[in-house]
Amino acid sequence: MRVSVDPEMCYASGECALRVPSVFTAVDGLGAVIPGREETAADEPQVRDMAERCPSQAIRIQ
Ligand code: SF4
Repeated sequence: MRVSVDPEMCYASGECALRVPSVFTAVDGLGAVIPGREETAADEPQVRDMAERCPSQAIRIQ
């Protein structure tokens, strides 16, 4: 499993970096996964929860 943020969909609410700073960050205002955390974080409950909470549905777990 792998977590990612679709920059085309993200509308820069900043919520993911605020709520789960161990996994998400902001790059040029857009949400992003911290490099190296894409696979290690994909199964974390807080990441799944954030994917559901993201107001633009930009967080993908595949
Ligand atoms: S919570 Fe969603 S919309 Fe907000 S910065 Fe993160 S990915 Fe973008």
